[in-house]
Amino acid sequence: MSERIPVQIIERVEPSRANVKVKSSDNLIHTRSFTGLFRNLRVSGAGFLFLLFFGTVWLDWGGRQAVLWDLADSKFHIFGATFWPQDFILLSALLIICAFGLFAITVFAGRVWCGYTCPQSSWTWIFMWCEKLTEGERNQRIKLQAAPWGVNKLLRRSAKHSLWLAISVLTGLTFVGYFTPIRPLANELLTLQLSGVSLFWVLFFAGATYINAGWLREAVCMHMCPYARFQSVMFDKDTLTVSYDAARGENRGPRKREVDPASVGLGDCIDCQMCVQVCPTGIDIRDGLQMECIGCAACIDACDSIMDKMGYARGLVSYTSEAVLQGGQTRLLRPRLIGYCAVLLVMIGALVLALVERPMVSLDVSKDRGLFRENSQGQIENIYSLKIINKTQQRQQYHLTLVDGDGFQLQGKTEVSLAAGEIFDFPVSVTMIAEHPSSGSQTISFEVVDSDDASVRSLAKSRFVAPLNR
Ligand code: SF4
Ligand code: SF4
Repeated sequence: MSERIPVQIIERVEPSRANVKVKSSDNLIHTRSFTGLFRNLRVSGAGFLFLLFFGTVWLDWGGRQAVLWDLADSKFHIFGATFWPQDFILLSALLIICAFGLFAITVFAGRVWCGYTCPQSSWTWIFMWCEKLTEGERNQRIKLQAAPWGVNKLLRRSAKHSLWLAISVLTGLTFVGYFTPIRPLANELLTLQLSGVSLFWVLFFAGATYINAGWLREAVCMHMCPYARFQSVMFDKDTLTVSYDAARGENRGPRKREVDPASVGLGDCIDCQMCVQVCPTGIDIRDGLQMECIGCAACIDACDSIMDKMGYARGLVSYTSEAVLQGGQTRLLRPRLIGYCAVLLVMIGALVLALVERPMVSLDVSKDRGLFRENSQGQIENIYSLKIINKTQQRQQYHLTLVDGDGFQLQGKTEVSLAAGEIFDFPVSVTMIAEHPSSGSQTISFEVVDSDDASVRSLAKSRFVAPLNR
């Protein structure tokens, strides 16, 4: 059984009404920029995410937008496949798989999702890059913040907010473009002809982006994201987390490069604060693992560059486990991780099977509210409303029958030709012939079969209501 490792609660001055600052552009955390392996990984992760988000919406597939959630018709198109409300169980399964995937990754490597691919982190990094572009490096930004308002400050701030707003509107437009075809939407926006509803949602998501990535930033991770709250429950002694090696780093303190730290009673930490200055959540990793840490590894890059300059071995701050810090070794294969991976594999297998076996025609039957009626020949008759959906991308011909329908007659349309994705609603009646062997209500089954491929079929059951004494 794996032991959990504690997430430190660092003592802070309790905020009171008097000292709680409203978050504004004047109290943003000004991070120092840096380069390094993990920064490059993060740029790659965010770049991939942006490409996926901003690029996919413009792709076409089979004469239609490749990924489109058509709310009006309750259909989800994705690269030539169309999913209907009846298929949304598959979407739920996919979300559960994603959740288990996140659990497995968290058990293995902590909050890598937060650090590398979470949209909140990725958009925040982009907004921070805009800040650096318009207001300069960390020191210049701090000076600008302290400076009185003047032309320089006004121009730089305006440029920053203009860039933020441009990215926000583009994000809002792209997001709405996954629900409303993007090309007409963009055209309407450019020609100022956007409908009120579309304009509302574009502005809503643009506003959310501007506020979350520009102003709230780490506050979203600390106070709004539920994952930050429960992720520590999944950590164990073998989970890889960004950690400071206190045994090696303490006692911390400045020294000259040529001085042997041991000779002056110091460890390898020169107390330069670089790891704090690059941290997007403004914490000091030397205080231990904290809830605010999003696992971005910016402090690893920063500290490694300092270690290089000092001629010390890298890794004073590194991805490591509690087990290693206590002198042991990280166990990669452990029951909890194996359990998550096994469940994940089973669920992925089941989802793939369900997708392959997904019926490409759907049949819904609902019985008319009247119980039954007697027709002119004295036969008992029930009325049903049928709905057939052609889930394929081609026109199909279908044949409707009653399964095991001895003693019943189906009357109405039994041959139906439907265009790709077409939904067809129509009434049919079923009569119980006089020679029917039994009386009273019973279950009947309707089946629709593809005329070209008998393996494509869908069955739907209903009740046939009849008096008992016939
Ligand atoms: S960057 Fe490294 S050396 Fe500098 S304060 Fe942080 S842990 Fe110490
Ligand atoms: S402590 Fe390090 S890994 Fe954690 S958020 Fe700050 S910079 Fe990123």
